[in-house]
Amino acid sequence: MQGWKQILLSHKDELINILVTDTGRLWESRVEFDGVISTITRWCQLAPELMSPEEKTTAIPYIRLKHQLVPYSLVGIISPWNFPLLLSLFDAIPALLAGCAVAIKPSEITPRFIQPLVETIASVPGLRDVLAYVEGGGDIGAAIVEKVDLICFTGSIATGKKVAAAAAKRLIPAFLELGGKDPAIVLASADLELATSALLWGSVSNTGQVCKSIERIYLAQSIFANFVEKLVEKAKGLQLAYPSVESGQIGPLIAEKQAAIITEQLEEAVCKGAIIHCGGEVEELDGGLWCRPTVLTQVNHSMKVMREETFGPIMPVMPFATIEEAVNLANDTIYGLSGAVFSAEQAEALEVASRIEAGAISINDAMLTSFVHEGEKNSFKESGLGGSRMGPASLKRFLRKKAFLVKTESLRDPWWFNV
Ligand code: NAD
Repeated sequence: MQGWKQILLSHKDELINILVTDTGRLWESRVEFDGVISTITRWCQLAPELMSPEEKTTAIPYIRLKHQLVPYSLVGIISPWNFPLLLSLFDAIPALLAGCAVAIKPSEITPRFIQPLVETIASVPGLRDVLAYVEGGGDIGAAIVEKVDLICFTGSIATGKKVAAAAAKRLIPAFLELGGKDPAIVLASADLELATSALLWGSVSNTGQVCKSIERIYLAQSIFANFVEKLVEKAKGLQLAYPSVESGQIGPLIAEKQAAIITEQLEEAVCKGAIIHCGGEVEELDGGLWCRPTVLTQVNHSMKVMREETFGPIMPVMPFATIEEAVNLANDTIYGLSGAVFSAEQAEALEVASRIEAGAISINDAMLTSFVHEGEKNSFKESGLGGSRMGPASLKRFLRKKAFLVKTESLRDPWWFNV
């Protein structure tokens, strides 16, 4: 893995450029590449200790317990298009270090990075025999689930349910990382300068095409007008990454299908009384589809934009009168990936965060799980299934524990037949 890391670093520009070709955004392509390098570094440091042999006493003094860790032979990874390189490797790296062979089926929507990446793998003896990329669409993904001993799937809830059913038929473990509709609650005491900047970033980076994007913002009534004014002003300060990727921060919609979802949700919200303060439409420029950061008010939970994953740079903002109401609104969803709470009082923020039904809550920031990978977390509700992909538990998903129960003295056990 360390050898591969050096080879990846020597192909850094080529890999980033090809990601930019498929996704139209620059900063996030760099983040993806750097994320792969730091993931290799972190797991190479952690794995030896996590996999070191254990020996323990038991309740019976002359029986000792030793454990062997047995990797699953072949792990399958199926990944989406929103971070094509990073999400194809995020689970693969700990699985390889656990001792598994890995077959990866990345999204068919963003396949250009595969060939140059496979060439780097081919040049590393030891790695090339245990790490394979398989190209194709959903049919190939379904075929992968039929062949592997464990499956890690990242994608939509609809496909995740199909993968879970196929895995259940074969009785293989399935780890599912699915969609989200993350809420942010901003309490009256929050630092508005900080909260508006953090939530703008948390909502529109990668053009909102992030599973843990903030997709709903709930504001204490007393700060509503001030917050919306600041958020709209900051949102208008962001530019499209057009005509060149250096022109701005907001890349195009990567998958064409998202344009229809964004348009439908915005049109429905406006029909039901929502007000658009900036952005608000999908634009076509040179054959690409784009959407500027969009702030919406006068929204409510009868609207799809508050209930269904958008996967676009849309910030619907809604006031609340009491903390009880804010928590109820945050939890009024089938999703439970992550969220955010803002307050000047850490204890108050943590109390509110403890009542949100989701696996990771950033306090006074947004989407921190993008950069902080140490914290073990589970997805709640329909946002996922299975052990944590973050923290030490992530690598342990790929290992079975075998117990050796060793008699250390030549004694008769009291429960033996007395013959
Ligand atoms: P998708 O479900 O359409 O596709 C994901 C992958 O599954 C693709 O590689 C696809 O080819 C494959 N696939 C399709 N049908 C399959 C089948 N029957 N069996 C096996 N594989 C099949 O999702 P998408 O549009 O590529 O990605 C966007 C979704 O991913 C969003 O909902 C987003 O929230 C989610 N996502 C979640 C996380 C997370 O960590 N929770 C991270 C990124 C994206």
